Amino acid sequence: MAVDVRLVPCLADNYAVILRDSSTGATAVVDAPEAEPIERALDAVKWPLTHILVTHHHGDHVQGIPALKRRYGAKVVGPRAEAKQIPMIDVEVGASDMVAVGNMRARVFETPGHTAGHVVYWFEAEKLLFAGDTLFALGCGRAIERPAATLWASLLPLRDLPGDTVVYCGHEYTLANARFAVTVDPRNAALKARLAAIEAMRAKGKPTLPTTIAEERATNPFLRADDPAIADAIAMKGVDPAAIFTELRQRKNNFRG
Ligand code: ZN
Ligand code: FE
Repeated sequence: MAVDVRLVPCLADNYAVILRDSSTGATAVVDAPEAEPIERALDAVKWPLTHILVTHHHGDHVQGIPALKRRYGAKVVGPRAEAKQIPMIDVEVGASDMVAVGNMRARVFETPGHTAGHVVYWFEAEKLLFAGDTLFALGCGRAIERPAATLWASLLPLRDLPGDTVVYCGHEYTLANARFAVTVDPRNAALKARLAAIEAMRAKGKPTLPTTIAEERATNPFLRADDPAIADAIAMKGVDPAAIFTELRQRKNNFRG
């Protein structure tokens, strides 16, 4: 595999991810919460930044763009539907577009919900998904600009990606997500084991990312709104999965673990 991936903690709980195609030296960062930690990570390995892939317009994903653009002249790629809200955007992308980073290719998925124009980037050959604030480890983003049912529809194609796809997300929210997940999926042994593992990782200050599609399918309640076990646990048997997802999202919004 010709890809080198580095997770870069930024701000309070954001992640930027650097990925480099070692065959060409092309180096991308997915989201730019702030420039400094990204520059430090790049300086340490002497990689010049060639691309900035943006998932959505929120400040904690775009604030670092101007400084990075000034220093490296990197190409800024982001969702067409949010182009006006993304500083210095060069390439606007939408559903099924392909983005080249050196010899690597990402397919763009439009995943409206958290924001109206949110996109994620799937590098099929490298088995990598950059999910921004659409899919989190054991959670999903808040449905801020579109209804929860729309976010559910956005998550389904991601769930169908190969199970060994490695998933990077925009935030370290996993522990809070896990504590919520066990309240709506109390009989899931894999989830319980994962909660314990996450508690141990966080106690040591370690990141809980990346995750995988297979792991999320098995334990993330927001990918399992059509699983009868979840419907049963929240007393909504026979209810439409989109409505169950909406209820899960609502409960998470109100959850104080
Ligand atoms: Zn966001
Ligand atoms: Fe965010």
